[in-house]
Amino acid sequence: MSEPIVIIGAGQAAAQAVASLRSEGYQGKLVVVGDEAYPPYQRPPLSKTYLAGTFERERLFLKPDAFYAEAHCELILGVKATKIDRAARRVSLDDGRTLAYDKLLLATGSRVRRIRIPGAELDGVHYLRDIADVDRLRPAFAKGKKLAVVGGGYIGLEVAAVAVKHGLEVDVFEALDRVMARAVSPLVSEFYERVHGQAGVRFHLRTGVEGFEGQGKVSSIRAGGKSYAADLALVGIGVVPNEELARDAGLGCDDGIVVNEFAETGDARIFAAGDCTRHVGRDGNPVRLESVQNAIDQAKHAALAMQGKHTPYREVPWFWSDQYDLKLQIAGLAWPDDKTVLRGDPAARKFAVFHLRAGKVVAVECVNAAPEYLVGRKLIAEGTSIAPERLADTSIPMKNITQ
Ligand SMILES: Cc1cc2nc3c(=O)[nH]c(=O)nc-3n(C[C@H](O)[C@H](O)[C@H](O)COP(=O)(O)OP(=O)(O)OC[C@H]3O[C@@H](n4cnc5c(N)ncnc54)[C@H](O)[C@@H]3O)c2cc1C
Repeated sequence: MSEPIVIIGAGQAAAQAVASLRSEGYQGKLVVVGDEAYPPYQRPPLSKTYLAGTFERERLFLKPDAFYAEAHCELILGVKATKIDRAARRVSLDDGRTLAYDKLLLATGSRVRRIRIPGAELDGVHYLRDIADVDRLRPAFAKGKKLAVVGGGYIGLEVAAVAVKHGLEVDVFEALDRVMARAVSPLVSEFYERVHGQAGVRFHLRTGVEGFEGQGKVSSIRAGGKSYAADLALVGIGVVPNEELARDAGLGCDDGIVVNEFAETGDARIFAAGDCTRHVGRDGNPVRLESVQNAIDQAKHAALAMQGKHTPYREVPWFWSDQYDLKLQIAGLAWPDDKTVLRGDPAARKFAVFHLRAGKVVAVECVNAAPEYLVGRKLIAEGTSIAPERLADTSIPMKNITQ
């Protein structure tokens, strides 16, 4: 009997790979190894509704337990894979076992980037990546407490939105000159700064954080040469890909496990999908994506390639963020020198920013604008050219925009 397909990491990409392998007809043995105590779960609610207390833990899980039983998939949880022996085709686990594999899927995700400043180890300095992180943070979310958020990215802003709604005082410290700068255009940054400001969030832009202060527990944060009172802090300064297993096994890594469009590494028996990878994007440039879409789509292509059915990963990237009553949806990857076109009115809290490159729609950022997002994704996929004036004209419904 042949050895199993082993999946390392039990997250979004792993759950998809199990489903896709079975639906595509793989009938061999399947083993998933995950170092968290839980079967695969979705992370997006962690910084949104789960933190807010309006989403029960059971709903986080991507599949019911019966799914793994029915898929004849063995889940080994709370156990870390520590080494890949490519010659022997075996994976070592930190409980002393080794597993033989026929093929291996690395779906190890990413981990939070830790801040290296004085006081970073004090109690009350939090990060947010997994269920345990939220379960530690939530009890500290009490009315009147002062929260210092380090990093004005998605996670920091989503947590800020939940916190002000819970009556906390929130200060956000961001080294760059605008929020979500890595992911959205200046217009969208400005809009979110305004909305958060109206809700009571205080922004400290262009302000580097120098340290946390306190006796055992954080009581203040030093930033831009000043001290600010803080009962707790949330650090959201990005993630780093979990690529060490691959690197130690001699596989190519470059801020992410390097894979081709079929999710293949340099070893014909080893594949990788999700946050841990760097692949060649639709525009031909290497890219590392941190999103549910990427985890799902890349895992599907990996599952196909593992069975010799190679189809290239070319899906349009998409992402979302929920803050207050605002749904931000982004499709495509924008470049700083793209031409931008505003459709709709930010003051009405409903608008979209289209990005055009050589006349073609390459990306769109939508705030409470579902038609713009849905049609925009299609325009990006098809590389459609549209006159900027037409895109900006809200009297033309999106469904008729190409006519
Ligand atoms: C708070 C939060 C909010 C988010 N919000 C959004 C959002 O709104 N929209 C969106 O598109 N994306 C969002 N994301 C990102 C999205 O959740 C990730 O891109 C997605 O989970 C990546 O899936 P993955 O399978 O690659 O990794 P993960 O889901 O992180 O799974 C990887 C798993 O592998 C485990 N692992 C790592 N190394 C080993 C090892 N050696 N042995 C065993 N197990 C190992 C990890 O502990 C982890 O459990 C959010 C992420 C977070 C943390």
